Amino acid sequence: MGELPNRIEQKAEAVRAALAAAVRTQGRVVYANSLGAEAMVLTDIIWTHVPQIEIFSIDTGRLHQETYDLIEKLQWRYRRTLRLVHPHAEALERLTAERGVNGFYHSLEARLSCCEVRKVEPFKRAIAGYDAWVTGVRREQSAARALAQPLEWDTQYGLYKVSPLLEWSEAQIWQYIRERKLPYNVLHDRQFPSIGCAPCTRAIQPGESHRAGRWWWEQSESRECGLHPRARPAAAEA
Ligand code: SF4
Repeated sequence: MGELPNRIEQKAEAVRAALAAAVRTQGRVVYANSLGAEAMVLTDIIWTHVPQIEIFSIDTGRLHQETYDLIEKLQWRYRRTLRLVHPHAEALERLTAERGVNGFYHSLEARLSCCEVRKVEPFKRAIAGYDAWVTGVRREQSAARALAQPLEWDTQYGLYKVSPLLEWSEAQIWQYIRERKLPYNVLHDRQFPSIGCAPCTRAIQPGESHRAGRWWWEQSESRECGLHPRARPAAAEA
């Protein structure tokens, strides 16, 4: 793969160092791979340089076909299997029986119930037993994410949280992806800067914020899935 320009190589080296330090100091580290653009950078660095970190993605059952295609591309490129964590079947049956298959459109409560069953519970199950989890959040993504720290105690989940891409700009993420010729979700080429479940994500219009296409029918302050904080986090939290 191509050499990285100096500035990006320095940033990538800092990420490699932060992840290696997390393994050394924290113990068992797991990466919750969102399959977004930042995830392509972290997957490349982890599977190439810090393979002690295990990676999983949550398959909510409502992802875009393009996201499933991306999972296959990643597995081909790195000749690794990406662990997919699914919701519990019984909980899903209960959810759709009580709220309907598209209940998330009808109320914030129903939407949060869906995210709880399809994302948050599988996430908690996937990180159980680990000492730290890695996330690809960047400061410029939202007001809440601007407050995150590179390494902090995650009071919500009871383990450390490592965020090595906090200072990366979106342009730097894409520069890394292009220079390394990494696979990425083709929806990014169709004005989907942030990609989640298919029914809850849409393309954004020029001038809209990057997260405007997520749960667009809700007030902006409610637009998180529960894995990351919406308001100012406690001192030691993400
Ligand atoms: S993003 Fe939408 S479909 Fe996905 S878990 Fe949340 S409410 Fe359900």
